[in-house]
Amino acid sequence: MRFRKNDTITIDEKERLVVEDFLGDGGQGEVYLVSRGGEKYALKVYKNEESADFRYNLKNNIDRGAPSEAFLWPKALLDFDDGKIGYLMDLRPKNYASFVSYLTGKNKFRSKQVLLRWCIELCTAFKRLHELGYSYQDLNDGSFFFDPDTGDLLICDNDNVTADKKNLGILGKMRYMAPEIVRGEQMPDMHSDRFSLAVILFMALCLGNPYEGERLKEYDIIDEDAEYEIFGEKPVFVYHKTDRSNRPIRGYHTSVLRRWAYIPLYVKEAFHRTFVDGLQDRENERTTELEWLKVLTKYRDELIACPYCGHEYIVGFSEKKKYDVCPLCGKETKKFCTLHIGRNAVVLDLGKKLYKNHVDKYSARYNQAVGIVVANKNNPALWGIKLMLPEGVEIKDGENNVKMVTGSGVVPIVSNLKIKFNENIIGEIR
Ligand SMILES: [Zn+2]
Repeated sequence: MRFRKNDTITIDEKERLVVEDFLGDGGQGEVYLVSRGGEKYALKVYKNEESADFRYNLKNNIDRGAPSEAFLWPKALLDFDDGKIGYLMDLRPKNYASFVSYLTGKNKFRSKQVLLRWCIELCTAFKRLHELGYSYQDLNDGSFFFDPDTGDLLICDNDNVTADKKNLGILGKMRYMAPEIVRGEQMPDMHSDRFSLAVILFMALCLGNPYEGERLKEYDIIDEDAEYEIFGEKPVFVYHKTDRSNRPIRGYHTSVLRRWAYIPLYVKEAFHRTFVDGLQDRENERTTELEWLKVLTKYRDELIACPYCGHEYIVGFSEKKKYDVCPLCGKETKKFCTLHIGRNAVVLDLGKKLYKNHVDKYSARYNQAVGIVVANKNNPALWGIKLMLPEGVEIKDGENNVKMVTGSGVVPIVSNLKIKFNENIIGEIR
């Protein structure tokens, strides 16, 4: 350990930090809790002397600022007397749990709607990162955190983020790396990020790895050579449409088997494309962030909760057969109304939300709620959409009676009601 509690760190005679605690060892560096002028920060100090390129990149990232609020971004670069470097960042708020703790079952998302919100945040964050010309290069389970109640996202370990196509020596973590990186044929870039993003999404939705199936049985132990074959040389997606050699193992990959069955077809297609076609054509066949956003918001829109057991499942708009019973308890799917708006179909179940992208097709605010389905306090059988809009909407019922509802008013949920959000966007409840 480089510092002890109550140590004072002075840099260039101007920066004065007090060490309050040791937070952990991250391999590459040590992390401390420090205070600077009454404010608390996390300080990461690198163990080795880093290259001038690495320092320049870190400095540049700090100067450009975080791509979005989801990134716990380096804030100030520190040069120590012995030539080593470090940086300050904000502390991770206490309401966040690690993605690893979700994978081990220790922490859960409050609901599927919240889990999808997190997945949507993740795609939005990487869309932004890539748009700014960066690539993350080292996406793995250890970098992500979530608020179990809200689905808010936090991305840590941002010190390896570089301009796309530039690499400072980090290749990534096995089980998350794209096969061409494992094989040493390419350096990490936006396209390998997209592969790893799909792995994280698969793990979030199915609680398993997309390449771990029957073929694990071919090895006595999973050592480096085995991993090279499974994730680099001969990766076979567990749900490959024609190659069935690596299906999840019954009794072992239970989570994947249970969850994959009830994922919408269009989400399955997005995974298949990345994990099968995307192995050959890394530039064109890996599902992009925008494509993920389209299918994940669609997934969220068609969720419904079972009134008997509370299980959330899709009604199955795009499936071969709609879900007329709950996949968990087998009881009948409740009657529901759907808001058709643009290309979207939102199932109007209690607690379901309308988002900015529903009322503005150019908006990228997929997680900004503009309405929520509520029950009437005096008559809980009556439901409505409580609006959260800056301006009111015009509604027209089946008999052509027109009425205005204020931006914070409630639109009743009744069949054949048209809702005019603006000149271009008219929704209809069916
Ligand atoms: Zn049920």
